[in-house]
Amino acid sequence: MRMIKTTAAFALMLALLLTPFKTAFASELGGTVLAQRASIRTGPSALDPAAIEVPKGTRLAVVRKGTSWHFVRFGAVKGYISASDMRLDGEIAPLKKLYGTAVRQASLRIKPNGRSAGYHAPAGTRIELVHYERGWFRAKHEEAVGYISASELTGYSLSPPAGHKYAAAALKKLILYSGPGERSTALRNIPLGAGLDVLDVSGKFANVAYGDARGFVKLDEIRIFFAVSAGEIDETRVSVDYADHAKGKIVNTGVQNYTYAMMNDAIKKLKRRFPKYLTVSSLGTSTAGRDIPLLLLGNPEAPRRVWVDVSMHAREHMCTQIVMNQVEFLLNNYDMGVFEGKRLRDTLSNVCLYIVPMGNPDGVELCQRGLASVKDRAHREYLRKINLGSDDFSRWKANIRGVDLVSNFDAKWAEKETVADSPAPYGYKGTHPLSEVESRLCAEFIASVGFDMTISYHAVGGELYWWFGQEGSRQDRDFLIAMDFVDLTGYSLISKERSLTDSAGLKDWAIQTFHTPGITVELGPVTSIAPIQIGDFLQIWERNKFVLWHAANMFG
Ligand SMILES: [Zn+2]
Repeated sequence: MRMIKTTAAFALMLALLLTPFKTAFASELGGTVLAQRASIRTGPSALDPAAIEVPKGTRLAVVRKGTSWHFVRFGAVKGYISASDMRLDGEIAPLKKLYGTAVRQASLRIKPNGRSAGYHAPAGTRIELVHYERGWFRAKHEEAVGYISASELTGYSLSPPAGHKYAAAALKKLILYSGPGERSTALRNIPLGAGLDVLDVSGKFANVAYGDARGFVKLDEIRIFFAVSAGEIDETRVSVDYADHAKGKIVNTGVQNYTYAMMNDAIKKLKRRFPKYLTVSSLGTSTAGRDIPLLLLGNPEAPRRVWVDVSMHAREHMCTQIVMNQVEFLLNNYDMGVFEGKRLRDTLSNVCLYIVPMGNPDGVELCQRGLASVKDRAHREYLRKINLGSDDFSRWKANIRGVDLVSNFDAKWAEKETVADSPAPYGYKGTHPLSEVESRLCAEFIASVGFDMTISYHAVGGELYWWFGQEGSRQDRDFLIAMDFVDLTGYSLISKERSLTDSAGLKDWAIQTFHTPGITVELGPVTSIAPIQIGDFLQIWERNKFVLWHAANMFG
């Protein structure tokens, strides 16, 4: 406690000392602290320790501007500050967040009217409101996200503050009226998913702008997004998250074990619903004879391509659920969705996402269903033996031959130290690089098609890998790319030291061979172990929702 006080006093002193020398920052971007007291943290998350506290009005040099966190310099201290705690020079107005206050003990729910998400806020708690739809707010408090009824909150207004507008999306095909009543003239139709600007809300109608048109729409037919300031509408995320709507939803996000069969069923249904936007292909056949689906999202002829591999580690099968949900989310927003100022439709005409949603289907099946998933009796006995006699395969990570696929690529493979030197549930790298069917299929496809970037989805840790020996300008480029994913997910970067001990993965091989950037996303939460529990799905989804969309925007 004493340390913190001293640091804050020191910071205040330094701030006063530095104020007259503002011009020192003239050539670079600067900003001013708005919060009464803000922390500069060692990492881009509220969980990272504060390096120093700075009072309101402190001038900071902005080394790198981010979405949620800016990387700043204050005297000799460098670190991260929440974007909402400061205003950048030249910014019209800071992003305003909308808060409501709980009128009684309130609980966040997994969906409107649904069961509790496991978080209860005492009366008087200030809760950040993300969006509003049909009497329910999507809300955040600390690490928890969920839905809260508008009747449980006070102290908020759906009308934007003076000089601001909120972004909204049409939840259905709706009518723009000349006045705030159904008897007014119908001016025009607005398509499902269309982006609107909300200028004011009164009663059951919202006064909106849609392109050049002005008029009124029914409040219950739109979703309003908060934390948007004037002039920044285009920068915001105008998208409809159908994940929240049970009706018509295809990818099941409520089951603990998202199976191979569920994935194949969802692929079929998505293809039927979006025949033009989704191409279903196959990477090949697994060791045990299962087809490994390959999804092409976007224009198959696009000049730029992003590779996405998922669930190469068996027990990390929640990655398949997260990525399949992203596929549905992107398809639902294909026509009208806007993110980072770009229309998804335009982006996906220039870039195609190549997604392998379950790279190790035999391993996932073994992990979820045990030996019942294995046809061959002799192989069942063999697997039981290498599982040390146990029939519990829920912690199985390898493929069906007991080889860790993500230690089986030709990238410092020989030097890689592993915990097992023969087939095992995890930690055996195989007899030689690409000894396994599944790793070989990936490598051959990547080498023959050529990609601008690879993304590998893994689970546990809430961290991002990005480095495998890059130097100079390539290192700078890939670091900045990785930092964008930090901004997006709130996950932290894994140090170069730690990356060195973790070689022979697909990402490592691709970085080394093709000199392209590669990101491994490790789902959180930080304290979890695989398989991750379905109760954590919502908060993981919130962090990952835009990962593939952002990757597409990078090249589209
Ligand atoms: Zn993994």
